[in-house]
Amino acid sequence: MRDEYVKATKDYKTSLEKLLAIYDENVKTEENKLTQAKKLLDEGLVARHQVEEIESALKDAKDKASETHRQMDQADTQIANVLVEEKADEQFAKNLRMAKGGLLQTTSFIRYNGGGAWALTDAWKVQRFFADTFKKPLPIAVFGQGAIHDRWRLDHHNSMDVSLYPDTAEGQALMNFLRANGIPFLAFRQAIPGTATGPHIHIGRPSHRY
Ligand SMILES: [Zn+2]
Repeated sequence: MRDEYVKATKDYKTSLEKLLAIYDENVKTEENKLTQAKKLLDEGLVARHQVEEIESALKDAKDKASETHRQMDQADTQIANVLVEEKADEQFAKNLRMAKGGLLQTTSFIRYNGGGAWALTDAWKVQRFFADTFKKPLPIAVFGQGAIHDRWRLDHHNSMDVSLYPDTAEGQALMNFLRANGIPFLAFRQAIPGTATGPHIHIGRPSHRY
């Protein structure tokens, strides 16, 4: 698992670096266009809305670049989470179907099969609970489907990963809230050997291979 983790993290970071180079290039291109367009605007040769269009394209390009930076900063955590979830998916395949509202605990994970309707658009409820209780934002590491899930063909569209150890007070409080609201989750205790990454709480149904 450790070797797999190291290799996957390296591959992922390399692909993000390539992506970032493209996005940085786009930012430069839009910046140059904007400088030109502003000059032309001063000379009355283009309309203001044309300048605004370039400004908006520049903003998009900058957003993409900073999102990629964020992904790179969290690459280790993301990969570890994906890997741990993938291993669990293999284990689930061997398990019997769980009843709605059922709770399954093993040494490596806790799975709650919430009976309520869950959609990622309800994430704000969980965020609000956590912020109200602990006076800090919910530490979300992965929100919805990321590039890494596409690459590994894992369905994470309707899930989010929270960077909390299940056995801490915060982790416990979060799990109690989720159970009280019928929201399905999986809490992973397992770390990738030799690292601090891996433990997290996955909110939503388990992510299956597609
Ligand atoms: Zn997850």
